[in-house]
Amino acid sequence: MRHIAIIGSGPAGYYTAEACGKTFGADVRVDIVDKLPVPFGLIRTGVAPDHQSIKAVSKRYETVALTDEVRFVGNVAVGRDVSIAELLELYDAVVLATGAPSDRPLGIPGDDLPGVIGSAAFVGWYNGHPDFATLAPPLDGDHAVVVGNGNVALDVARILSKTEAEFGASDITAHALQALRGSHIRTVTILGRRGPHQIAMTPKELGELAHLERAAPFVDPAHLPPEADDAALEPGVRKSVAHLRSFAVAAARKDVAIRFAFFTMPVAIEGEGKAERMVIEHTRLDDSGRAVPTGERETIDASLIVSCIGYRTPHIEGVPYDEALGRFANEEGRIDEGLYCVGWARRGPTGTIGTNRPDGYLIAERLAQEIPADSGKAGRAGLDALMDERGVRIVTFRDWQRIEAAEVDRARAGSPREKFVTVEEMIGTLDAG
Ligand code: NAP
Repeated sequence: MRHIAIIGSGPAGYYTAEACGKTFGADVRVDIVDKLPVPFGLIRTGVAPDHQSIKAVSKRYETVALTDEVRFVGNVAVGRDVSIAELLELYDAVVLATGAPSDRPLGIPGDDLPGVIGSAAFVGWYNGHPDFATLAPPLDGDHAVVVGNGNVALDVARILSKTEAEFGASDITAHALQALRGSHIRTVTILGRRGPHQIAMTPKELGELAHLERAAPFVDPAHLPPEADDAALEPGVRKSVAHLRSFAVAAARKDVAIRFAFFTMPVAIEGEGKAERMVIEHTRLDDSGRAVPTGERETIDASLIVSCIGYRTPHIEGVPYDEALGRFANEEGRIDEGLYCVGWARRGPTGTIGTNRPDGYLIAERLAQEIPADSGKAGRAGLDALMDERGVRIVTFRDWQRIEAAEVDRARAGSPREKFVTVEEMIGTLDAG
């Protein structure tokens, strides 16, 4: 019997568990350990609440979770309740699938002012991550700046622009919905330090902006390269750029404007005790396609600034880390003897949810070659004994299903669930019977 611990129950964790099941059959026991009492990581707390079709992939993970070989071990935090060294004593392999849930700082003066929020925090707030339940972003100004030209920037701009009715079939948290109801934001500026040809936004997500009830997207035609240059683009980017071109054609104004400001980088954030203004500088592309400042600056009002410029994997004590890349130092997923990583913790925060599937299968293949078939390690029985000794309450997948049933029960009309947003509420549901 092989004993494997996977740390993190997001897509990378579940695809790895699925791959281990396929690779080892009944000859494996996989524990998926998560610090939250609820599974699915980014699917629950990262994917936008109005993108329910993407979230549906968790049904596939549920099939994996309910096999005899795999179990969910929720409410157990590595570093707080158990160390990596202890897990390596108990399991033949420990696979870190911890994702990249920390914001990369903007790194400009004023980026620590209240009102400047990283996308992990902002997305976690509207999506029910317990770490951000009390964030309360300022929505009393009329101009929000979203920094970055990736899909997360689009998610944030869209959430700030939708009407309450448009959240009808979503599982946005009640606290976010209530705050957005009173929002005064009328312009959302999406700041890109490079141009339309360099965006990291995908066509389907960009296209959604054209169909919002009370918001309309605008692109300054002067920022668009000659149309003939689009031919050289990769097909996906070409489609995205076609959307941007359509946003540059004069459209009917709506209550909220989503403005793309290309060739613009943030330089500083100013304000008395909170963000009030942003100093921006215009850029041009150098020969290698990098954004270089032109020296032409201006100051714009902004009381909410959400930086969507990518993520980092948090450190875990004793695990080698690549500071430049913001993830664990690894060679094709191997960190050290018995210690591996997958998904964003291995390769950084890029790609879609499905990109994690081959990652999981790659690691399962490595494990088949590198870990012993019958080391006699204690595995899950050993973890249970240790958690019992430390008074840590393990939340099982069956427990999660009870939490989920309670979330479904209290959902508002049309919404799939009303999420609990604190660990106490989640565990409290189990104690309530
Ligand atoms: P991303 O796709 O890597 O985009 C990050 C953006 O931030 C880039 O436009 C980058 O510009 C910009 N940036 C980085 N540092 C900056 C700085 N210091 N100042 C100004 N701009 C800066 O990251 P993401 O949007 O966080 O998305 C992460 C991954 O999740 C991506 O693979 C994304 O496709 C995926 N995702 C998918 C969906 C979906 O499919 N619906 C939704 C959300 C996220 P440069 O290009 O100039 O570096």
